[in-house]
Amino acid sequence: MTDRKAELAENLARVEERIRAACAAAGRKREEVTLIVVTKTYPASDVRLLADLGIRHVAENRDQDAAPKAAACADLPLSWHFVGQLQTNKVRSVAGYAQFVQSVDRPKLVTALSPAAEGAGRELGCLVQIALDAEAGGRGDRGGAAPEQLAELADLVAAAPGLRLDGLMTVAPLAGPYAGREQAAFERLMELSSRLRGDHPAATMVSAGMSADLEEAVAAGATHVRVGTAVLGARPRLG
Ligand SMILES: *Cc1c(COP(=O)(O)O)cnc(C)c1O
Repeated sequence: MTDRKAELAENLARVEERIRAACAAAGRKREEVTLIVVTKTYPASDVRLLADLGIRHVAENRDQDAAPKAAACADLPLSWHFVGQLQTNKVRSVAGYAQFVQSVDRPKLVTALSPAAEGAGRELGCLVQIALDAEAGGRGDRGGAAPEQLAELADLVAAAPGLRLDGLMTVAPLAGPYAGREQAAFERLMELSSRLRGDHPAATMVSAGMSADLEEAVAAGATHVRVGTAVLGARPRLG
């Protein structure tokens, strides 16, 4: 094993143990939670090592970095999740490699993604990103729609050819009433998920929790955690 592979294996084992313990504490089965490794700023060679170590889900937040990386890893059995703020001029590229877009946060993005997915000949799984610090009608600092917009966005995605409504995503807010209250934030996301599933029963994915707060997310009921630094190390630059 290379040094890097051994390092990633060790970090993965530590994250796996955290997820296992959080599931046990919450009375949940380990299989209820999927680990997505956020590989942003790290090279395709790391993605390849992660795939070797059994990882099947990876996430990226910038199309410029993700597109060449996904192309370099096209032979690997990976699902790619797009988790960053997405401009409509990038949707064609993203629809070429991503199986999931977790950052759907405005009607214009839905109307752009739909023909892009159809053009790529694939069904794109979509999560509505909720910003718990956004004012009604506004968007969060890190993207995401205000909770008030969820029903409209969900209906739009569900009706759009080429798109499949899979659930919700959030990032614990740094401002507003949920700042520093990760578990409360994730519990609020779960309430929104229950309401969403009333209208869209198949939209069961709840993507919440990162390196610093995956335990709180698992406790609240998240089905997917997105972990970067705890697996790959501190990022060399902001991303
Ligand atoms: C970077 C990022 C993560 C992972 O964050 P870490 O703190 O490195 O685990 C998760 N979700 C999104 C949307 C991100 O941009």
